Amino acid sequence: MRARVVASQNGSVGIQAALDVLTLGGAAVDAVVAGLSLVEANPEDRSVGYGGIPNFLGQVELDASVMIGSDLSAGSVAALQHYQDAAKLAQMVMQELPHVLLVGAGANRLAGEMGLEEKNLLTPETEQLWKDGLEGTYANPEFTDYLTKMRTLIGTVTSDPQLVERPYGTVNFICQDEEGRIASGVSTSGWGWKYPGRVGDSPIIGAGNYCDDRYGAAACTGRGELAQRACTAHSIVTFMRFGLSIEEAVRQALTDLARLDDPLRGEMNVVALSREGEPWGAATVPGRFYVYQEAGMAQHEVRQRVVVPIYEAQEPTM
Ligand code: ASP
Repeated sequence: MRARVVASQNGSVGIQAALDVLTLGGAAVDAVVAGLSLVEANPEDRSVGYGGIPNFLGQVELDASVMIGSDLSAGSVAALQHYQDAAKLAQMVMQELPHVLLVGAGANRLAGEMGLEEKNLLTPETEQLWKDGLEGTYANPEFTDYLTKMRTLIGTVTSDPQLVERPYGTVNFICQDEEGRIASGVSTSGWGWKYPGRVGDSPIIGAGNYCDDRYGAAACTGRGELAQRACTAHSIVTFMRFGLSIEEAVRQALTDLARLDDPLRGEMNVVALSREGEPWGAATVPGRFYVYQEAGMAQHEVRQRVVVPIYEAQEPTM
């Protein structure tokens, strides 16, 4: 079969590099990390790696995971500070330690021991964005009524057309080699202004990332708490296991989110790949895209995600 890569739209800066790893005979997980690393290094991307949006205190905290579908190996880091290479570090957790997930100080420590480059991840642009969001809402440093402030912040930034898409986001990569072996990976700075120490879906295997060569793979971006509560990536792969087509599996997993009460009414986006190599992208809101490239294509295609709305019948609870 042809080697192929499916990624969230912001993965476009890394998709060729990922495909090159596959076509040169490299492992699918190395292709995933090659793609993710280029996005993490890109300061234009305000939701991943260097230049990612910080938490409420102005600290950039990164989450990432990788998974190998042939034996379900996985590695993750969460709340990593001062190192941009979260995906590489997740791969190192998988390869070097008898663990799956490292958080905070432990993740920082391993990054130092592994010789990753220490770096200030906050760029002047994201620092300004963070300050703009806080203006007028950050009245009390003790975080009283944090949820109300968070909701105001999100309302403020998402209604500013210049800021839309910037403060939230994540990058997903799913790579399949010529033998049909699949690996998947996710990297993010998480939600802007998140409570310090908050961990999203991206480093949680089964929530934001899941992969099994026998059935396929899925990865998420969007409101991580939804994917954490419903194990969205794992659900998609499991639905394929039980015979649903990739389209049905993705639709079912997103539809399942409709019964979750969410005070922020966040969106959810998924990319998926079946074991046969069929890519799929879906989102709970319109206007979302993903990218796809397979061996033999001169460049990637930008494809529209299918819309599966989940909030029609639900009023905000805050
Ligand atoms: N899913 C990420 C998180 O919840 C953020 C995003 O994709 O917008 O941390």
